[in-house]
Amino acid sequence: MKLAILSESPADEAALRVLIEGVLGEPVQIVQAALRARGWPSVAQVMPAIIRHLHFNTDAEGLAVVVDADDSIVHTATHDAPGYFHPQCRLCQLRAVFRQTVKKLPPARGRERILRGVGVAVPAVEGWYLCGRDESVSEAAWLEGQASGTPPYTRHQLKWRVYGTERPSLPHEIRCALEEAKRHARDTSRLENDFPGFRSLARDLRTWRKSAR
Ligand SMILES: [Zn+2]
Repeated sequence: MKLAILSESPADEAALRVLIEGVLGEPVQIVQAALRARGWPSVAQVMPAIIRHLHFNTDAEGLAVVVDADDSIVHTATHDAPGYFHPQCRLCQLRAVFRQTVKKLPPARGRERILRGVGVAVPAVEGWYLCGRDESVSEAAWLEGQASGTPPYTRHQLKWRVYGTERPSLPHEIRCALEEAKRHARDTSRLENDFPGFRSLARDLRTWRKSAR
């Protein structure tokens, strides 16, 4: 399957590729997104241009987008109700940008539209890397912390636990990210269970297999 990946760093994108292959159960071919984004809100801002580029100039079947939640509102099942949209939820926002962009595009290169894959890492992608390795780390733990006003951990602490430093070199970051992504790719069920923001991405990806065949 040919797809483009848009995330907040080259290390995230390398790990995401492995996770996506784990969910799809097949190797993927990466199509360059043509533009890079670094952090929020830049990802949401460049997405329409990237979608148009992929749609008209490439044979990518889909675009997978993942951002960190940071301190934003966490997407919950309530947000999945038809027509519901939470303006402070990044998952809802990215889905809305996707929907609004693709609906204006005429069919191109033999397909109706670029397929959507959207995920949000709560509060940061390092949470996904620690899943199953550090029992205190989960989306539920973060949500409880938001409700009580006492976060269970900070994003800096998550970085320490994954990289052994707050400012890893890019090669070290990629090495650590890939190691954890490969562990999850063998079986993504724990990550999907503990991180609904990943499960949303996985569910999107599973609809691709049906659309493409
Ligand atoms: Zn939402």
